Amino acid sequence: MQVDVAIIGGGMAGASAAYFLAGHGSVALIEREEHFSYHSSGRTAAQFTVGIGVATMRRMAQASRAFLETPPEGFAEQPILSPRGCLTVGRRDQEAALRRLEENLASVGARADHLDRDEALALFPALRPEKLDLGVYEPDAMDIDVDVLLQGYLRGARAAGAMLITRADIQSITREGDRWRVTWPGGDLVADVLVNAAGGWADEVAGMAGLAKLGVVPHRRTAFTFALQKDFDTRGWPHVGTVDYDWYVKPEPGCLMGSLADATPVAASDVYPEDIDIAQAIENIERDTRLSIGRPLSQWAGLRSFVRDRNPVAGMSQSAPGFFWLAGQGGCGILTSPAMGQAIAALVAGSPLPEAVTRLGVVADDLSPERESLKS
Ligand SMILES: Cc1cc2nc3c(=O)[nH]c(=O)nc-3n(C[C@H](O)[C@H](O)[C@H](O)COP(=O)(O)OP(=O)(O)OC[C@H]3O[C@@H](n4cnc5c(N)ncnc54)[C@H](O)[C@@H]3O)c2cc1C
Repeated sequence: MQVDVAIIGGGMAGASAAYFLAGHGSVALIEREEHFSYHSSGRTAAQFTVGIGVATMRRMAQASRAFLETPPEGFAEQPILSPRGCLTVGRRDQEAALRRLEENLASVGARADHLDRDEALALFPALRPEKLDLGVYEPDAMDIDVDVLLQGYLRGARAAGAMLITRADIQSITREGDRWRVTWPGGDLVADVLVNAAGGWADEVAGMAGLAKLGVVPHRRTAFTFALQKDFDTRGWPHVGTVDYDWYVKPEPGCLMGSLADATPVAASDVYPEDIDIAQAIENIERDTRLSIGRPLSQWAGLRSFVRDRNPVAGMSQSAPGFFWLAGQGGCGILTSPAMGQAIAALVAGSPLPEAVTRLGVVADDLSPERESLKS
């Protein structure tokens, strides 16, 4: 079997790449597990925010907003985004950090409201008033229906002729003339271009092809759900967290979700939640709020994979022509997937980056795996 582009990794990154590349030639999306998005992409907080500390990631987030708000006709039967809002709270001595968040939001044209204690409490009455002085509210933060987005990418890619292959654990990548041969137990194919969208395994996949590591480091994050609170009507609550980033809470259908916002470097694997991270999250949330969590209803963990400068990577390796990286999406791989998918499709086709991305000042070098800020 021979294709123009083989994409390794069927999480949100690979699925979005398949969707945007499928119109340009023959595409195969290859995933090791039985289901697409079994790993990180199926384990998220489903949040859209542009309150992001690093500039290229923040711009790719804002560049994704229009697609998520108004996807192409036929992409999805339900809305991808629904209003949620995001409240970040802190103490008076953390005002500088909250100001930076406001500046970051404003830098990409997003609204940011500076709140005093009473205004923050009006949005999230469960806060203990003595624990905070100030807040920043991002009213245009949203919930993402992650499954609707994923299915939209997969359905669109399939309709445009892409092959969607699961249970294909790629175990070798070899160069044959100008092409790449990828092999898994029971199958193989040859491709002109490889897109490495293997999430936490991106360095491992590059190693199979004989490339040096880029320094993609998976970080485990744990999350859990807990019961609705009898003293509060939680339906209209925003996503709430501290500027210290030592917990966050958000409403989910029929329950609440919490996390320690932990980021523990780990080897890439099918990660599980650690009891200690859940216990610490509960302690931190109960310290700052009047929520009474009790026993979690469910718990899980997933990988957030970062490169050195914590900005995402989309671009061709200089040492291996035809080998493209699509990696390092950190905690933003769902919300940046439209702009990242459009960017990788343009770069593979040798076209300029799309206007949605360049309008916000992102150039190909900002996304390149060869950029200076990735070198130690
Ligand atoms: C608790 C938590 C909360 C989060 N909240 C948010 C959020 O609110 N918003 C947001 O945008 N992001 C969030 N994220 C981050 C988001 O999950 C990631 O950025 C995103 O899922 C990365 O997508 P990916 O496709 O690169 O990785 P993955 O989804 O991990 O996909 C990579 C795939 O590659 C496959 N693969 C690897 N090696 C091989 C091989 N050799 N052969 C075949 N297949 C292979 C794997 O099986 C895997 O399915 C959160 C993450 C966590 C853990």
